[in-house]
Amino acid sequence: MNSLLDSLLVHSPVITDGAWGTQLQQQGLTSGQCPDAWNLTHPFEVEQIARSYVEAGSRIILTNTFGANRITLSRHGLAEQAHQINRTGAILSRKAAGERACVFGSIGPSGKLLLTDEVTEEELRSAFTEQAAALRDGGAQGIVIETMSDLSEARIAVEAACGTGLPVVACMVFDSGPDHDRTMMGNTPEEAVRALTSAGAEVIGANCGQGIEGYIPICSRLRRATPLPVWMKPNAGLPVLVEGRVTYSITAEEFAGHARALKGAGASFIGGCCGTGPEFIRMLVQTLTAKTP
Ligand SMILES: [Zn+2]
Repeated sequence: MNSLLDSLLVHSPVITDGAWGTQLQQQGLTSGQCPDAWNLTHPFEVEQIARSYVEAGSRIILTNTFGANRITLSRHGLAEQAHQINRTGAILSRKAAGERACVFGSIGPSGKLLLTDEVTEEELRSAFTEQAAALRDGGAQGIVIETMSDLSEARIAVEAACGTGLPVVACMVFDSGPDHDRTMMGNTPEEAVRALTSAGAEVIGANCGQGIEGYIPICSRLRRATPLPVWMKPNAGLPVLVEGRVTYSITAEEFAGHARALKGAGASFIGGCCGTGPEFIRMLVQTLTAKTP
């Protein structure tokens, strides 16, 4: 295992960060705006979000680069700025982290389907290779491939990210099928472990899609299927519409309460996805790292 991961895991679970999208919206990002472009246009706000997680106690924070592959950026006419957006995202998170936290660069899906030939494997490989290299150039110490629904795309992203030499975390969304334990394309946690491990991931995980309770059995299955550390970032329950705005159904206290079971199910890295903010991280730190008397 990578020495950075080893040293982080001396004190397990490692508390990671919460959502970025919902935090950016609180800072004024409007729907339709490109969140990743804020690294260049609103660096102060982006750094503030990173700092809020560091101050809450995150030992790993991510970068505001979830959609910063050139395929997704092209929808905003920003493909040619991919390198700069990713590099700057990593620089901003490193600045906020200082010596207090590690920075792992976030890579999300392209939003295009291989299955229907909307995108080719080569286009994906080249976009993710460019993104991962720019994140490394900006100082990212690891890469997180996250919110992936298609195992084929995830594999390509993992292989591309491994080219940087940095440790790679690979996370799928499991929220489909009658038992909510499949990816959108129908793959099981066990199939994901096999494919992502052979692609070179050093940490396997799940994020987004469902709340923390639903991810406890998924975490157990990932744990049983691999000796690699498991990374979990569930949502803050299910999205609910309140006065026309999307909010999430559970509080930071409830989330942290369930997090004990997630730790018990074998999660080595625990954070939150959609709907979680710095207060969730603060509660996780209190609940999971408090010494029992
Ligand atoms: Zn999410």
